[in-house]
Amino acid sequence: MTKRIAILGATGSVGSSTLDLVEAAPDRFDVVAVTAASNVEQLAAIARRTGAARAVIADPALRPALAQALEGSDCRPEAGEDALCEAAREADLVIAAIVGTAGLKPVMAALEAGVTVGLANKESLVSAGELMMRAARRANATILPVDSEHNAIFQCLGDGRCDHVERLILTASGGPFRTLSAAEMAVKTPAQAVAHPNWSMGAKISVDSATMMNKGLELIEAHHLFGLPSERIDIVVHPQSVVHSCVEYQDGSILAQMGPSDMRVPIAHCLAWPERMETAIERLDLPTIARLDFEAPDPERFPALRLARAALEAGGSAPARLNAANEVAVAAFLDERIGFADIAATVEAVLAASDPGAPQSIEQLLEIDAATRAMTRERVARLAA
Ligand code: NDP
Repeated sequence: MTKRIAILGATGSVGSSTLDLVEAAPDRFDVVAVTAASNVEQLAAIARRTGAARAVIADPALRPALAQALEGSDCRPEAGEDALCEAAREADLVIAAIVGTAGLKPVMAALEAGVTVGLANKESLVSAGELMMRAARRANATILPVDSEHNAIFQCLGDGRCDHVERLILTASGGPFRTLSAAEMAVKTPAQAVAHPNWSMGAKISVDSATMMNKGLELIEAHHLFGLPSERIDIVVHPQSVVHSCVEYQDGSILAQMGPSDMRVPIAHCLAWPERMETAIERLDLPTIARLDFEAPDPERFPALRLARAALEAGGSAPARLNAANEVAVAAFLDERIGFADIAATVEAVLAASDPGAPQSIEQLLEIDAATRAMTRERVARLAA
């Protein structure tokens, strides 16, 4: 039986990797919906290629342009947040690859409808972890982690069960600035920050890798996905990105998942789950790799790690505020309005403001998110001036 797939964020890096796999196995997958923020031409081309029944552009003003680009095809052009949510509800599997909290509502819509979600969009889980996990439990919806580290842990756990686990070990490449001093990092440009040594990814997550906020977000993500407290989730720097993460059991056994640094591997796992699918991805050649290195992370040079752990331990609204402040600060860095070191400093300053308490609903969460973004923008404007 073919699986009906909706790809949210089809024009991005994870979206393209997903399409590559899905288009190579047309007998297994039926693409029912593809979405993008504003990239009309690419979205229309993907919709025509895959034969998707609907294409959704997030910006409502771009609906006429999408309709024009799809003229003569059977694909239905749609626009706006409600249409994104509707597309997410009508699939067997949603690949959630929108970047940032913009992905939150469609992911919630899928989970509330009991749809299985392959989750790449870590920001939505960091921000709304408890609400999202509760929604999934209530509707008996499965969340399959696309993020390579969490996918590795999911596989090492035997499909997510945490029986007899002592701790989770998240591996981190350390990003492009792993060996630099704080002073050397402070003068780095956006182009240097997005040049990741092992992975090819979108701009926002590449900057997060350079600050190591990505690993901080993943710490919070792991807490929600697997239900372990902060003190039982360790971070270890592993520059080769061959071991994607590990699970240590009560008896001292450590299980690790290895694979090439290619997002198509964890995406293929999610697409085929609970089965497996063949892929043409280049295999790891262990003798060529020859050695695997591990080192402790340095929270002094990478303060984002410290901030994320503190936010997880503080709970309440702290993870949502950490995420919102980081999204705004990273965008300002990419626009060359603030420096690299200003990203973590801005997040830290914004987090120091008073905690309005844990959001009880998505609406409350979005209010906290909006207020934090406004506060961060003000701070960025002062820094940039
Ligand atoms: P990209 O920036 O490459 O792609 C983002 C996608 O989301 C695009 O399709 C974009 O559309 C769409 N989008 C952006 N903003 C909005 C919005 N406001 N509303 C609706 N759609 C929007 O990101 P990545 O593929 O790198 O990352 C996607 C997610 O996956 C992120 O959460 C990231 O942290 C996570 N992730 C990524 C990995 C990777 O290897 N890239 C690895 C692990 C996790 P448009 O093209 O029109 O702008």
